[in-house]
Amino acid sequence: MSAEAFRLHGHDLVDWIADYLDGVEDRPVTAQVEPGWVRRQLPPEPPERGEPFADVLADVERIVVPGLAHWQHPSWFAYFPANSSGPAVLGELLSAGLGVQGMLWATSPACTELEAHLLDWMVTALGLPEVFRSDGPGGGTIADSASSAVLCALLAARERATAGAINCTGIDRPLAVYATAQAHSSIEKAVRIAGLGSDALRTVSVDGEHALSPAALDAALEADRAAGVEPVMVVATVGTTSSSALDPLPEIAEVCRRHRVWLHVDAAYAGVAAVCPELRWIHAGLELADSYCTNAHKWLLTNFDCTLFYVADRAALVGALGILPEYLRNAATASGDVIDYRDWQVPLGRRFRALKLWFVLRHYGLEGLRAHIREHVEAASWLAQQVVAHPDFTLAAPAPLSLVCFRRLGGDALNERLLAALNDSGELYCTHTRLDGAYTLRLAVGGTRTERRHVEAAWARVTATAARLVAHPGAQRDAEQPV
Ligand SMILES: *Cc1c(COP(=O)(O)O)cnc(C)c1O
Repeated sequence: MSAEAFRLHGHDLVDWIADYLDGVEDRPVTAQVEPGWVRRQLPPEPPERGEPFADVLADVERIVVPGLAHWQHPSWFAYFPANSSGPAVLGELLSAGLGVQGMLWATSPACTELEAHLLDWMVTALGLPEVFRSDGPGGGTIADSASSAVLCALLAARERATAGAINCTGIDRPLAVYATAQAHSSIEKAVRIAGLGSDALRTVSVDGEHALSPAALDAALEADRAAGVEPVMVVATVGTTSSSALDPLPEIAEVCRRHRVWLHVDAAYAGVAAVCPELRWIHAGLELADSYCTNAHKWLLTNFDCTLFYVADRAALVGALGILPEYLRNAATASGDVIDYRDWQVPLGRRFRALKLWFVLRHYGLEGLRAHIREHVEAASWLAQQVVAHPDFTLAAPAPLSLVCFRRLGGDALNERLLAALNDSGELYCTHTRLDGAYTLRLAVGGTRTERRHVEAAWARVTATAARLVAHPGAQRDAEQPV
């Protein structure tokens, strides 16, 4: 593609994206296609000859758009949000345009140094402990996902627990990892990938608010040590996926220190809220953690993928993941004066992800990011109050941040039908979980375009839909079930 053609089509595509985002609110939130519909629109064979870009863009409109769930719709309340913003999209475009692969400092010093600098900025921005700054033994990196962060943390923790017995050679005892049943599935995946086996994951019990019980953790560690099992890592979650429960970090950290176990703190969704000083209490106790992650790509206006992953001591991480083949040797690496981020992650290659975060920070400033978080925390708190005040609904868990979990009185079947009816309307999208065994609706506020009025409209729809289902004869049976 010539520079002239790229310029032309690039402008067309940017116009297309701007129009799409401008009109996204008028679309049904979720895709309205049957399985297989998208593939049936595509030719069975790849094109033998090149085609005009305009034809490709027309097919985006015809084939791709109908098959989209519109994550950027302001009434997207499902899972957690995946923010996308103008500056972040432009940062992604620049990263693609530069085509840099930043595996080593030497393969693009700016890619490494901008990243290291931004991760230090984020320590300040989120009020994180100084141990995570890169000018001491610790430091941060941008990982593709919180799942990768917990895997790398586990590999580093195992490195430390086994005194550097890389590849587990010479480990003569079983290893174990600890988290609650509310913790993210990526922890079990990491345990499997690391070769510990799912049995190595211990489920620590929770308190009435779905948060880890430090006493139960203490007992589990004690029992394993007595049985000759080596505890490798504890994962505490700040803001669980099911209900945004906050595991009590100070008590957990104290237990971990006493048992000499690596503490990883998974704040994938909630951590970025700490950009607001009044919300920094969620991180109390974090100064004793060995590693930490939060996702700028959920609720901090930065496109996926942008996980901020920190370690208090990078030696274990680099010890576990650093390999230097002859073909990567270079003077800068040999000098020991530079960071080679390939040693902080599973793949060798890496994208220039820092650009989008840099653009976001400079475009919005911390003030702008705080306003974004505050608007959603206030809207979620308003919603939680409505749920509490409504005689037919219950709040299923505390809502300290932007996730509200609730149920309509009347049993699981009614709540399942309520969620299906809400989502079928195309006007909003929520998902569900199970808390204390009961089917529970989750409404996660936090989209780039989500405002208070969208949350108000969602609640009006929830109550009206529930009333309609209960009034409908078919719904009567469920409504009469005990709560
Ligand atoms: C979303 C989430 C994850 C997984 O995040 P990815 O970046 O998609 O891997 C892990 N833990 C928690 C608490 C989450 O909310």
